[in-house]
Amino acid sequence: MHQLTLAEIARGLADKKFSSEELTKVLLARITQLDPQLNSFISLTEELALEQAKAADVRRANGESGALLGAPIAHKDLFCTQGIRTSCGSKMLDNFKAPYDATVVSKLAAAGTVTLGKTNMDEFAMGSANESSWYGAVKNPWNLEHVPGGSSGGSAAAVAARLLPAATATDTGGSIRQPAAFTNLTGLKPTYGRVSRWGMIAYASSLDQGGPLARTAEDCAILLQGMAGFDPNDSTSIDEPVPDYAAGLNGSLQGLRIGVPKEYFGAGLDPRIADLIQNSIKELQKLGAVIKEISLPNMQHAIPAYYVIAPAEASSNLSRFDGVRFGHRCEDPKNLEDLYKRSRGEGFGPEVQRRIMVGAYALSAGYYDAYYLKAQKIRRLVKNDFMTAFNEVDIILGPTTPNPAWKLGAKNSDPVAAYLEDVYTITANLAGLPGLSMPAGFVDGLPVGVQLLAPYFQEGRLLNVAHQYQLNTDWHTRTPTGF
Ligand code: GLN
Repeated sequence: MHQLTLAEIARGLADKKFSSEELTKVLLARITQLDPQLNSFISLTEELALEQAKAADVRRANGESGALLGAPIAHKDLFCTQGIRTSCGSKMLDNFKAPYDATVVSKLAAAGTVTLGKTNMDEFAMGSANESSWYGAVKNPWNLEHVPGGSSGGSAAAVAARLLPAATATDTGGSIRQPAAFTNLTGLKPTYGRVSRWGMIAYASSLDQGGPLARTAEDCAILLQGMAGFDPNDSTSIDEPVPDYAAGLNGSLQGLRIGVPKEYFGAGLDPRIADLIQNSIKELQKLGAVIKEISLPNMQHAIPAYYVIAPAEASSNLSRFDGVRFGHRCEDPKNLEDLYKRSRGEGFGPEVQRRIMVGAYALSAGYYDAYYLKAQKIRRLVKNDFMTAFNEVDIILGPTTPNPAWKLGAKNSDPVAAYLEDVYTITANLAGLPGLSMPAGFVDGLPVGVQLLAPYFQEGRLLNVAHQYQLNTDWHTRTPTGF
């Protein structure tokens, strides 16, 4: 039963082949048995899950239907869940039980999903390896000595290991797409403003976006349907109708114009990944797509710009964790300054502290113009490159990451080496565009992802292309040994 996709689960439940309660019990047992190898969960919510599963079974018995009614999922542990620990992977929030549900959580619960637990993540979503979590590193089910990617590494490892069919995640600079690539999943970062950020603990507010991680594009369509939509509680949420994503999966790719940026195939890219990307291009050509070389000339400036803007916003967002209102408080503070210093010094790990320092520096008087303002100008240039490219092509295709998943610990002493791995993903966040990663093959037994980018609000186009690709390839069906 654990091999079923969300789409298959919906059919099985509708045909009364099994109940949501039965399925939930099977998955909870599987998590208890297998997760000690992976460390993909921070909290399990068995009681809530069984309650929600029974309620979903009653709703179905009363004639209700719906693709998510009775579907087991998990939430990345930065989505607030009422009365349940919402840790953000940090000692700072280890004792924090959210007083309300994030909009994503309440929308999905209303659609009938069953929450199995909260998944591990890089502390405050800062990272690309899921090694900065206070709860320990997550392991990649494809090779337990390798990282699963980050920051949504717990959601990715759990779904890849068939502990559950799909999970929520967030992407500030690649944290849905990069772990999807590293664990052979399909992951979608929606257009900025498509999915509400209300109750999603902020890392960099102008870049953060929630989205689905699943095994197939079809399942991403199903989960996104339950997450997307206008939310008056989020001032950056956009009031744009949500299309029926599942209904849009079967469009023909005949004549689809795919842009391949020449800058993507530079020196940093593993040549074996370059070959797999070429194979995926050929596959899409067979389906009728037309390939065009394009240019994104400002791509080389994106990493430095992102690693100014994201820490700047983080330094501001994380100032609320001061030991006063919620989260970790140091023992016996001598005075207010001591309370702030020690609570934050003890509560935040080294990567979070590094980013707060970089961000506060970039925003400080005298350096603001030189760093923050400059980075914002680059951000506009990056966006303009995309706008020019999308005048000529319908989607942009390339690798999701320059290398496959690295060994645990390999980049711990060199944060910049890890930052450079984000080269293909962060431009979409800087521009606010939707992006998807899907399985494209293996290198040394480790999965490789191909990334598709589309114009604003064209999530449906990305899902359609990925679904057609998956109907004609079987990379996404491969299962890691032992799971
Ligand atoms: N790796 C990037 C960072 O560390 C992106 C993280 C994310 O998308 N949350 O900032």
